[in-house]
Amino acid sequence: MSNYQLDTSRHAACWTKGRGGHGVQYIVIHHWDDPKKHPTFEGTVSWFVSGKGRTSAHYVVEAGRVARMVAESDTAWHAGNWNYNQRSIGIECNPRASEADKQTVAQLVSELLARYPGAKLIGHKDIVATGCPGAYYPPAKALAPYLGGNPTSAPAPAPTAPAGVDVERLAREVIDGKHGNGEARKKALGANYGAVQARVNEILAGNKAPAKKKTTDQVAREVIQGQWGNGADRKKRLTQAGYNYNTIQRRVNQLLK
Ligand SMILES: [Zn+2]
Repeated sequence: MSNYQLDTSRHAACWTKGRGGHGVQYIVIHHWDDPKKHPTFEGTVSWFVSGKGRTSAHYVVEAGRVARMVAESDTAWHAGNWNYNQRSIGIECNPRASEADKQTVAQLVSELLARYPGAKLIGHKDIVATGCPGAYYPPAKALAPYLGGNPTSAPAPAPTAPAGVDVERLAREVIDGKHGNGEARKKALGANYGAVQARVNEILAGNKAPAKKKTTDQVAREVIQGQWGNGADRKKRLTQAGYNYNTIQRRVNQLLK
């Protein structure tokens, strides 16, 4: 069930039919440029429709709405790297990265992970040198609180590390900042990068997203009893505890009717 409106009425001008025989192995997060330049959802959609930038993405997303501009079975021109384009879904996100923006992005990502099990969630700057995706980097960490408790968002199975490599120690070192970021980290870790990064994501997701313990009904009744506060405070507390605010709030409204 989606909490966002899906608009499939507009299409990007630039894309390539099919994926050259490749499957979806990556979900690449982008943002619509520096918020200081005042980019908008409609502006980004129009830009891809016009084809002026010779670029595109599968999805444009902000709080509560999603535009699909290239079919998932086709190749969008978003990564600046053809190998990645053929193997990925590109998502363009509102760079203000509000809680509600992240919730909608995370919901779409969860749905994609369910459709493409094992796909890795990465940022544009994991592929090329760029500031993109800004506040969404690294995506697995930025979206972890909003992916929490959703069984379809389980991290991709970790690639197997060569025997004798202490993945746990390397992952802790990465979190302590010893191996840099992006390309530098990839170089430093070499063949172990995939396995170590997967463990880093697991650790960070574990820290950020406590397991969901109660049913929607239980939490909704607690909300009505006043245990979760009101307004923005309620939203923040529910989200931090790993619950989907919209789902809980809808149930509260039903119970109060
Ligand atoms: Zn980008």
